[in-house]
Amino acid sequence: MKILHISAECYPIAKVGGLADVVGALPKYQNTQKTSSQVLMPFYENAFTKKNQFTTLYQSKVNLGNQSFPFEIKTLKNNKLGFDIFFVSIPELLSTDYVYSSDDADRFLTFQIAALDWILTLKKKPTIVHCHDHHVGLIPFMMTQSVKYNELKDIPTVLTIHNAQYQGWFSYEKLANIPKFDMVNAGLLDWDSQINPLAAAIKCAWRVTTVSPSYMEELKKEANGLESLLQHESDKCVGILNGIDTEVWNPETDHYIEKNYTISSVQSGKKANKNYLCKRFNLDNKKPLFVFIGRLVGEKGAELLPKAFDLLLRENKSSVLLLGSGNSDVEHELEILRDKHNGTYNTFIGYDEKLSHIMYAGADFLLMPSRVEPCGLNQMYALRYGTIPVVRSIGGLKDTVIDINENGFGILHKEVSISDMVYALKRGVELYQDTIKFKKTRNSIMNINHSWDTSAKTYINLYKSLNQ
Ligand code: ADP
Repeated sequence: MKILHISAECYPIAKVGGLADVVGALPKYQNTQKTSSQVLMPFYENAFTKKNQFTTLYQSKVNLGNQSFPFEIKTLKNNKLGFDIFFVSIPELLSTDYVYSSDDADRFLTFQIAALDWILTLKKKPTIVHCHDHHVGLIPFMMTQSVKYNELKDIPTVLTIHNAQYQGWFSYEKLANIPKFDMVNAGLLDWDSQINPLAAAIKCAWRVTTVSPSYMEELKKEANGLESLLQHESDKCVGILNGIDTEVWNPETDHYIEKNYTISSVQSGKKANKNYLCKRFNLDNKKPLFVFIGRLVGEKGAELLPKAFDLLLRENKSSVLLLGSGNSDVEHELEILRDKHNGTYNTFIGYDEKLSHIMYAGADFLLMPSRVEPCGLNQMYALRYGTIPVVRSIGGLKDTVIDINENGFGILHKEVSISDMVYALKRGVELYQDTIKFKKTRNSIMNINHSWDTSAKTYINLYKSLNQ
């Protein structure tokens, strides 16, 4: 079976969030299970592509309406990723060091057309095309509807929804940019009088998956306008929990962290990483260290953080460190909190892969007060590094964290509210003070297996059901 994953992000090449982590790990694990799993993504001019070498496999031109752009298909030389990777290079549109921007409709539509133009030329076509999120959501539509891709219409397509908040909407003015199809079927592109690539993919893909079972159920009630569509298509929808790449996220071998450790050396290992963080960010290392790592947006409950931190820190029993960026008002509120809680609070506004690893390793607790959480990878990384999750009971968090009061190992709160969140944080402080219980919990979570093995197999079984 030859599976082609198509995505805007893939770790370690280009990462904005969890999408990259999934696309950088799932194919690798699938390849250990007798499949040939490959990735196709845009060629960005970023740190990774500048550092590595590539071979050109194919050259042509791609049309977007009346415009024509030269493009190349490249592959990585000395590839150690664990899967084959192909890039669509369109210098005029994709040679950026960012992944997303305001002209994404044109950038990603051209990428998708070039991708399909190239697939048409392949002698050995993929047996499954697996599309990730709305950026590549027009692929299942074009494969089944565009005259030019008629030869691809019997290849099964799978759409995975990593985040349904973003749907890639664009106006009908750009309709002519989509390769010619029978206008009778234009409704397949439509949702609420706009072209909606995510909706089109839900309608046209052979199967639709979400990144956790709970998120699938939640989307039928609240999906930024697509609820009724998901209810209608529910027979082809299934939630499959993400795994984590246990080679990248392993405290025993992680080259980013200050000191490596296993369960038997967790005490000293975490202490060294915590000390590093406390020294660098002027925090009290005697107190439990709570961290937040993520996008500062409403979905992550980011606007709760400044006030909740303030209330927690007033009691002078904790230290808090935040890494993230997003909403500028929230960033500002988080920054000014530094003066008020000098010595127990700090924030790093920005994106820093290395620092995030040290934070998973050095923290005592990881916070995720998310309003929406399709799967959430942070809590699974935290578990592996012996960091106790304090999370809202939603989506993938609900599927992966059990409250300590219910024979579990984490702290859950129900509401997206400052009071609920602060109550949960204080439960964390109490747990930290109960040294025996705290250490026992920390050791037990490091043993939880969230590797991709099981989910990779579930996806393969799903593909097999489509290829019969
Ligand atoms: P998202 O909704 O952002 O995709 P996930 O939990 O699925 O959330 O994945 C987030 C990923 O991005 C994790 O690997 C996390 O460590 C990483 N991440 C998020 N923000 C930052 C940041 N500011 N610096 C470094 N890594 C970050």
